Order: sequence, then C-alpha cells, then structure tokens
Amino acid sequence: MNTNRILQLSIQLFLFVVLILFSGFSGDEKNVVSKKRLDPVDSDNTNLNTNPDYLNRYKKIETYIPDENTAIKHIKIAVNIFTGPGTIQNTATSIDAINQMIEWLNGFYTNVDSATYPIAGVPWLRDTKIRFDLDHRIFFYEGTTLYNNTSQYTLERHIATVDSSRLDNLNIYITAGGKASPYSIPPYPRFILKDGGDITSSSLYANQGVYISSITPSYVNAQTLAHELGHCLDLFHTYNPSCCHETCNASDPEYLYDLFGANPPAYCWEGGGFGCKITLGTNTCTNNIMGGNNMLNYYFSPMQIGKMHRALSIKSVRKYVKENTYNAEKFEIDQNETWNFDIRMYSDIVIKRGAVLTLKGKILMADQGAIVIKRGATLIVDGGVITSTGQTWQGIKTEGGKNKMKRFFEKKGEVIFKNGGEVKNARE
Ligand SMILES: [Zn+2]
Repeated sequence: MNTNRILQLSIQLFLFVVLILFSGFSGDEKNVVSKKRLDPVDSDNTNLNTNPDYLNRYKKIETYIPDENTAIKHIKIAVNIFTGPGTIQNTATSIDAINQMIEWLNGFYTNVDSATYPIAGVPWLRDTKIRFDLDHRIFFYEGTTLYNNTSQYTLERHIATVDSSRLDNLNIYITAGGKASPYSIPPYPRFILKDGGDITSSSLYANQGVYISSITPSYVNAQTLAHELGHCLDLFHTYNPSCCHETCNASDPEYLYDLFGANPPAYCWEGGGFGCKITLGTNTCTNNIMGGNNMLNYYFSPMQIGKMHRALSIKSVRKYVKENTYNAEKFEIDQNETWNFDIRMYSDIVIKRGAVLTLKGKILMADQGAIVIKRGATLIVDGGVITSTGQTWQGIKTEGGKNKMKRFFEKKGEVIFKNGGEVKNARE
C-alpha cells in the first residue's frame, strides 16, 4: 500500500468516524467537525509562535475588526451539483434558485442583526465586510453515482479531474437530499503553516468546502451555508450541546468577551440549536450566527467579525479572496517589529520614521499594494519573502522627503536583504 492509499483510507475512516460522531448529536446539529477540531488544545502552528509581535498584534482578533473604511473582502465560491435521482437538475429554474440562495447567504453577511443578548458597550457592526461571489460558477456533474456520495474529498477529487481550476474557489458541494447533514470540511483555517502531524493537508494551501444535501436550494440552505461558511472562516459554536465551541476561558486571548461578557457566565456556552426559543435579553438561546438557530438575520459580534477577517489574513481560507481586494486605509508600523509568520495584506504597509520591520516570514501583497518606507525607517528582509497574491504588486517605495534639514538628519528609508530574503513579482 503506498502512502497516498494509506492517506486516502485514513481520510475515509476519519470521515466515517466524523459521521458517526455527528449522528450522536441531535438532528438539529448543523455541522460536523474533525476529531482534531474537538481537541480543546489548539494545536496549530500559530500557537507555537511565541513572537510577542505576533501574539500582541497579528494573532490578536481585535487587530482585524473592520471599520467603516475597511474594504469588503470578496470570497470566490462555486456551487457544484452532482446530479441523479433526488437532486437538483440542470435547469434555468435550478440556477435561479441557486443564485437566490447565494443572495440570501450574502444578505446574512451584509445585514448584521442586532444582538438579542447585547453586551453593554459593544458596538453593533452592521456589516461583516465579507461577501461570497458566485459569478456564475454553478457546475453540474452528470452521469456519475456521486450524487449519493457524502465525502467532500471524493467530490473534490472528481471536480479536479473535470477542471482543476475549480478548486481555486471555496466549493459548495450539493448531492441528493436526505443523504447526510451539512458540514464544513477540514482543513480548518486554524491548521495553518505547518502540519500538526496527523492531517497532511492542513496547510495554508489546502482546500476547504461546505457540503449540503438538498433536493432544492432554499432559505434553510442559505442559513446553513451562512453558518458553515462561518466555520470555514474560523468561527466555532456559541451554543451547547454541540461539538467545537468557542472558548469560555476568559483568560484566553481567543475568548469572545463581546459575546459572552467580560467574565464567562454560567451560560457560556449558550443553549440553543435549530429552532430554540429566543427571548430578548437572555442568552439561553440567541440569534448568533454560530448559535445554530434559524433566523431571518443573524448577529455577528465584532470579535467574531474580526476573527473572520483574521482568518482571511493568516489562515488557509484567505486563498479564496479575490486578488484585487485592496484597502485604501494604510497599515502603519511605528515601532520595531519582527514578522516571522505568513500574512496576506490588503493595504499598503507604511513603516514610519524610526521603526524597523524585520521580515523572516512571508507577506502576500495585493495587486495595488505597496510598502512605503519613510525617512529614517528600515525594512530588513531577513530570509523572508514579499510577493503578490495575483500577478504583481506595486513594490517597495523609499521616501526621500523635501525638507533639507530632515534629509540632513535622517537617512532615506532603507531596505536591507539578508539570509536569502527576497522580493518577487514587484512592479518595476
Ligand atoms: Zn456548526
């Protein structure tokens, strides 16, 4: 048996275990997660990174909470339907219904509801600034038995044989109704940079997806997609009983204090589940997107929104964001920092006077993005690499300054390369 075959079998076994685990939960449970996801110890590589700059700024959820000036991040999705008895068929009506489903999905991310259990002082962010772009990528796979299959791995492999470029999208897989409950697929965005050891596909380049089993695209499917895509964007459940919760440990930097309160109350986690009864001002059951409830609109807390944007910067799901996503707001560095991690940036990076940015990791720049080194600032590319998400990026600009006195006292912005550090795909 070769390694691939062993891997394939272990994946099948793994999925089987997952489904068994899942079937132990109530019928209202909306998704399935990996055994690893259930592990209370976050074993991703980022947690092994003890660099204080990483811990205090780039791993911090608050860093990523968008404001009114933040550009919307568009995620490329595709809907893949495996047709057969009991499935959606390739008709104009089905295509309309799928487009409608995605429109509803985007509605949930565009119109954030107010919290049914608000925490004092927490602002209401009306828009997640995240959208899912279908752009007519609806694909039907006819004449196979895959309409009966519930394994995203198998479905994904089939898509790759038809057109591997379809894997550049965050894929939604639809098979015949009544086959299995919806789930989102590992590798989860937590598992980045390096393997934890037991899932070899857990890298920044590995694929994610959402599986649903449905006879006809509906509002319920849109609700499910909104929730499952939340998982792909690194959100866990807020409710119990369920698998895979957000932490209730208030000393954990990942603790969502804007959702559970400054100290975790006895009801962290919330109660809930599909169809639970919401009472305003109580959090036994809420309208949170990860509360597993069926709502016309959902609440996302600012920390949850920040967590999703963080995933789109430092976790695997970021690879699905459209290449030209660019934020006109500049990202400023005003003190010495070392970046030993891998980050996708959506804005210009400005290194301010007196600051030194040492790059040991990797930066992916937007097409329109540049790195500006102010007078008296330094960029040291120390074994790191700066490259583009798309074709090219705008490159490094060192600022001179017109003031003669300033020029005398402060040297021009400087770039130093060492230990094989390099810049790629920069516009000349
Ligand atoms: Zn879930």
